[in-house]
Amino acid sequence: MTTTAETGSSALDRLRILIRQNGPVSVADYMAFCLGDPAHGYYPTRDPLGASGDFVTAPEVSQMFGELVGTWLRSVWASRGASGPLRLVELGPGRGTLMQDIVRVLAHDSDRLAGLSIHLVETSPVLRRHQKTALADAAGRGLPIHWHDTLDEVPDGPVYVIGNEFFDALPVRQFVFGASGWAERVIGLDGDALAFGARPAALDRTAMPAGLPAPSLGDILEISPVREALALALGHRIADRGGAGLFFDYGPAAWGYGDTLQAVQKHAHVDVLAEPGQADLTTHVDFSALARAFSKSGAVCPRVLTQADFLLDMGLLERAGKLGHGADAATQEMIRDAVERLAGPEQMGHVFKAICVTDREPGPYPFDGNTLRKTDGQPPR
Ligand code: SAH
Repeated sequence: MTTTAETGSSALDRLRILIRQNGPVSVADYMAFCLGDPAHGYYPTRDPLGASGDFVTAPEVSQMFGELVGTWLRSVWASRGASGPLRLVELGPGRGTLMQDIVRVLAHDSDRLAGLSIHLVETSPVLRRHQKTALADAAGRGLPIHWHDTLDEVPDGPVYVIGNEFFDALPVRQFVFGASGWAERVIGLDGDALAFGARPAALDRTAMPAGLPAPSLGDILEISPVREALALALGHRIADRGGAGLFFDYGPAAWGYGDTLQAVQKHAHVDVLAEPGQADLTTHVDFSALARAFSKSGAVCPRVLTQADFLLDMGLLERAGKLGHGADAATQEMIRDAVERLAGPEQMGHVFKAICVTDREPGPYPFDGNTLRKTDGQPPR
């Protein structure tokens, strides 16, 4: 457990004090503290990405991921006449790798770079520094880059918003079904150790996913009001001002009961209560809830695709072929591995999904239903 010089205490010490003073904390408050506390939180205090870190994300696997997202953005932008400034926003940009790869694609066309500005919504000072380094070259060529704490700070007007593994980092509430109905799952103390418990709490029926079967004793329901509120705000903005959004995350095709909260450290699962602030905490994303929030805002949310379908439809194999052309055997092997990791059904391909939100019908390719492949993603309800 690391100790923060500023406060002389650890995240666990702080949680013990909080719980002793105020009582048990909800799973959502636990996640928000462990991930976001400025002094003790996981993201504000480290770079968690890459082989030497805790987990590897799609943009870190291969430049092809960002290039295909860049190609998508370019075609959506072109389909709207490519007029006016192109305000490109990324939520939770990590090391800035995805944006770096996108900018390279957009910069092929110097006219486009001229109207382009980048807006990075990032709360971690450590990761902001990485992003600055990753984009130093583009900034040197005159590309305006701005950092924001929240989406609300991004200047008014149309926006093109992307995010990879962003929604899964936002807090969820968990409810457990017991003899007297739903109760909120909380984290309290058993002696000095953190321990799960439950307390009575009203579960807003309207917040429950549609179509779930009647619960059995012990069933856990996860909902994320923070995630849905953000999707709603983003949808409103896109519906009112124009633009589009594209997000990748992991989650099932259909939402059900279950505890998906997990802690990851050094590429392995660890106990979620063992080392608060030292391990990444994530949950699966309920894409049907995101789609409902987008649609409720008045924006268009065409359908959900698997990451594999999105990347293959955008030309992953063709791009891999081009990259590998004339390269040595080791490089070709690396590219084949990357394709497998990004799109392989046993790897990221099926568990990761792509969801899109736009200001008009029909949804942009490959969300328009004219795709070559059948998706096992969930259409919005
Ligand atoms: N998109 C990157 C990083 C994913 S990790 C990639 O694919 O590699 C999650 C990112 O979201 C980190 O950059 C983290 O600092 C940021 N983040 C987490 N919670 C946030 C919040 N509430 N507001 C803004 N950024 C947040």
